[in-house]
Amino acid sequence: MGNFKYITNRTLLNVVGEESGNIAVLVRNDSDEADVRYRCPECGFSEQTRKPWKRPFSVKCSKCGFLIRLPRLKDEVKREKRMAKA
Ligand SMILES: [Zn+2]
Repeated sequence: MGNFKYITNRTLLNVVGEESGNIAVLVRNDSDEADVRYRCPECGFSEQTRKPWKRPFSVKCSKCGFLIRLPRLKDEVKREKRMAKA
């Protein structure tokens, strides 16, 4: 992990379940702020921003107000297992 205590890169679903956005989050070891880069799955707006780091993490699209949640890894693993079975 090097200089980061948290790194993630996720695909985001819009309200009808299409993978139309993404989010990348970086938190440095010596910081409680997250560097966030996202593309809103609802409106396509892209932005780079900074937010206080806390779990569960979420960020609001500053164009359309869509709430982008960062699912906990546990939930995500469950979903991937379900998808693998299908
Ligand atoms: Zn948006």
